[in-house]
Amino acid sequence: MPEMARATDAQLKTDQNSRIAAVIADLKARFGERCATSAALREQHGHTTTWLRNEPPDAVVFAESTEEVAETVRLCAAGEVPVIPFGTGSSLEGHVNAPFGGISLDLSRMNQILEVHAEDLDCRVQAGVTRKQLNSYLRDTGLFFPIDPGADASLGGMAATRASGTNAVRYGTMKDAVLALTVVTADGRIIRTGGRAKKSSAGYDLTRLFVGSEGTLGVITELTVRLHGQPEAISGGVCPFPDVNSACKAVISTIQMGIPVARIELLDSLQVRACNTYSKLDLVETPTLFLEFHGSEAGVREQSEMFSEIAGEFGGGPFHWATAAEERTKLWTARHDAYWAGKTLKPEAEIMVTDVCVPISRLAECVSETAEDIAREGFLAPIVGHVGDGNFHVQILVDLDNPEEVRKTEAFVERLALRAIAMDGTCTGEHGVGQGKRKYLRREHGDALDVMGAIKQALDPHNVMNPGKILPQS
Ligand SMILES: Cc1cc2nc3c(=O)[nH]c(=O)nc-3n(C[C@H](O)[C@H](O)[C@H](O)COP(=O)(O)OP(=O)(O)OC[C@H]3O[C@@H](n4cnc5c(N)ncnc54)[C@H](O)[C@@H]3O)c2cc1C
Repeated sequence: MPEMARATDAQLKTDQNSRIAAVIADLKARFGERCATSAALREQHGHTTTWLRNEPPDAVVFAESTEEVAETVRLCAAGEVPVIPFGTGSSLEGHVNAPFGGISLDLSRMNQILEVHAEDLDCRVQAGVTRKQLNSYLRDTGLFFPIDPGADASLGGMAATRASGTNAVRYGTMKDAVLALTVVTADGRIIRTGGRAKKSSAGYDLTRLFVGSEGTLGVITELTVRLHGQPEAISGGVCPFPDVNSACKAVISTIQMGIPVARIELLDSLQVRACNTYSKLDLVETPTLFLEFHGSEAGVREQSEMFSEIAGEFGGGPFHWATAAEERTKLWTARHDAYWAGKTLKPEAEIMVTDVCVPISRLAECVSETAEDIAREGFLAPIVGHVGDGNFHVQILVDLDNPEEVRKTEAFVERLALRAIAMDGTCTGEHGVGQGKRKYLRREHGDALDVMGAIKQALDPHNVMNPGKILPQS
């Protein structure tokens, strides 16, 4: 019997390989060199960030229009061959891996900014436009797009992971930013969800269904996103604290007082040390908050004075104001480079990065328990976080050739995810599920996970769209 089962498995694999080969032949006939099969390109389109194993696709198609995306998806659907949408590949949980082979559909050449409606504060872009590209384009309009996940990710990828980042405490996440989408569904239809009206009660909210679906329900080819006016005044700086607990308590108080901070980020002392080395800063190596305030001249002054008082109550300070724009840029560049800075702490190690999010009132407790856990395990693991949202990351430096270290790290990540869920939080605030966090979804969502499975089954019955992601059973 086991031999028969092995024969059946082998047969299935052979069938799948021949279906994939047939689809690649069709795609090459249609797209020529834009359907690439070189090992280097395939590897680059598998998971490359952090510790998860690279599982490359069988081919990469570079699409240049919604119609081309639809053609590719139709060919793949007919052959039941997986399609893995690809933006810039900066996701962190194995999202772009191809565990069952298939076609990576690269949207980076769909990088046109199609319309800017300055009077309505929105714009329509193709999915491959990156956030930095959009902001450079908008610079002279007085508008900006605030969602900022550190990496220069594509807007399609950011919508697909429901990304956020440093500005989310003030401006929201991709769930708030996206007004409408053009999507190619798993059977190759082109649909438009949402619209440009500020609000609508017309039917199911398909836009929000696709936002955060990580390419498992369809391919986003265009997005209409909200823009914001560039603030009249910006001020900010850094504030040291004696320990992470007091820093988190100051954050909780700031948010509960309704101070509209634009950014409030925690770096623990290890992360500050790494940033000092990597970004040539000279901060005191103690838990530190990086802050930014947006508004009128009077508004930012008032916000910063209120924050300084709160910081003092929790033993923080002195506040260092970065008044010059260059100094602010240097600080925020250092914050954005925190991941790469972390690597300098042990260059031969890999970084296993994980993120959780809890209600703001539980932030200090969750961060402090996590810091104690790190100390107990003896990990080299900086903590850094978008703490105004109750969201923080831990970057554990791991020797992947040491199975015991890997096992201990995985156990730590699991404890952290379950700790956050037990505090009414989530196993991922912004990085998404991909392959890495699938095992926690039943605990977080209970029977609602079955409803997600039913949606996936209804929209993608042959499990063609990015299989092996989000849903444990896919
Ligand atoms: C140093 C560093 C810092 C980071 N910091 C943050 C942070 O602060 N906040 C945060 O939210 N994230 C952060 N990230 C994670 C990452 O930048 C985000 O997940 C980002 O949204 C991914 O966008 P991408 O274009 O790289 O997508 P990819 O990695 O290419 O794809 C991500 C997922 O979306 C799907 N996808 C991509 N494009 C489409 C599309 N057009 N249609 C449908 N599905 C699609 C893919 O199949 C995959 O499942 C960080 C990453 C790095 C490397």
